[in-house]
Amino acid sequence: MSYDYLVVGAGLFGSTFAYEAAKRGKRVKVIDKRKHIAGNIYTEKVDGINVHKYGAHIFHTNDKKIWDYVNQFVEFNRYTNSPVANYKGEIYNLPFNMNTFNKLWGVVTPAEAKQKIEQQKAAVNVENPKNLEEQAISLIGTDIYEKLIKGYTEKQWGRKATDLPNFIIKRLPVRFTYDNNYFNDKYQGIPVGGYTQIVEKMLDNELIDVELEKDFFENKNEYLKSFPKIVYTGMIDQFFNYQFGTLEYRSLSFENIKLNEENYQGNAVVNYTDAETPYTRIIEHKHFEFGTQPTTIITKEYPKKWFEGDEPYYPMNDKKNNEMFSKYHQLAKESPNVIFGGRLGLYKYYDMHQVIGAALTVVNQEFQ
Ligand code: FAD
Ligand code: UDP
Repeated sequence: MSYDYLVVGAGLFGSTFAYEAAKRGKRVKVIDKRKHIAGNIYTEKVDGINVHKYGAHIFHTNDKKIWDYVNQFVEFNRYTNSPVANYKGEIYNLPFNMNTFNKLWGVVTPAEAKQKIEQQKAAVNVENPKNLEEQAISLIGTDIYEKLIKGYTEKQWGRKATDLPNFIIKRLPVRFTYDNNYFNDKYQGIPVGGYTQIVEKMLDNELIDVELEKDFFENKNEYLKSFPKIVYTGMIDQFFNYQFGTLEYRSLSFENIKLNEENYQGNAVVNYTDAETPYTRIIEHKHFEFGTQPTTIITKEYPKKWFEGDEPYYPMNDKKNNEMFSKYHQLAKESPNVIFGGRLGLYKYYDMHQVIGAALTVVNQEFQ
């Protein structure tokens, strides 16, 4: 059979592309080296609970078009992410908001909270924040930095906060209202019945063939010869034989534990923000879908150094790696028959809505 496209990676980027291409009558072959489709958004039903196998995933977007787009595949519930932080047994609301400030300092009004933060900033003098530590202190002062950010961040990234880029902490809202919603976006939720079905539906087309446990690099030259066009969502540096060096990632390991109790921690996500606890967070999956099962499944998420062959979860988007990526990106632009996309293909800390948006942009360019 002759195909129009080979899509490497059955994650959200590759599957969105495959779905849109097939809708336009193109024949698509999708390969993935894993045993399952859906990439990092894969969920698996265990004891009636949808387990997020590669870490907690909460869908959120401000873009109505993206929201409508995902809703054509699945219904979303009204879950609102409100993680809590556990710092040595003290519990604080996240993201940083009036509930957090009240618990920490006893302040009641936004003016009091702002005054407290200004005092702490003034003592440290961070006019133009040059790294994550300075950025965090300039946003919310030293107390929150010390209790809720420093330990978590340095575990998560395996580096001093003074050696990390500012943008990472800007992901989190700082609010002077009593609002524990982790995101500012208009739309948010969890697919009723898990994420995998989104990708199942995207790939359910007679023009799409899926082959699992197939690594592109086992047959790279053959694939390049026999497919007119390739959409590649694996690691960009690997595609180019690491010729400019190896891009760094941060990896994770997940410890899944089944417990014979109904409700272990009372929330879907609890962050452990001290430096000593070896994991960053515990996920209790049933709470994403308001589950009432008699037992529960929790996952401890341990950050770890990435070595070649490990799962590359987070790109380390610092200056050195971004510069190396630019060189690979230039080569990518000179390879007109290969489209690079997704978290790994573009080496970007993309969320799901951004991956879908980026895939749809590529689709528009490709089929204009
Ligand atoms: P992936 O899902 O990684 O898919 C790439 C696929 O390519 C994989 O299946 C891989 O096996 C395959 N592949 C790679 N190389 C090869 C090869 N050589 N041959 C064959 N196949 C190959 N986003 C949110 O919006 N909200 C969240 O709450 C959220 N939480 C997250 C939590 C964690 C712990 C992580 C790691 C990510 C989180 N994300 C979240 C981000 C989200 O997972 C990504 O935006 C999205 O899954 C990226 O899709 P992708 O297709 O680019 O990559
Ligand atoms: N972060 C933190 N304390 C927390 C939660 C997050 O310091 O309790 C920091 C940490 O550096 C993290 C970043 O904020 O990497 C972004 O957090 P987010 O929850 O968006 O991380 P992700 O879900 O992408 O791992």
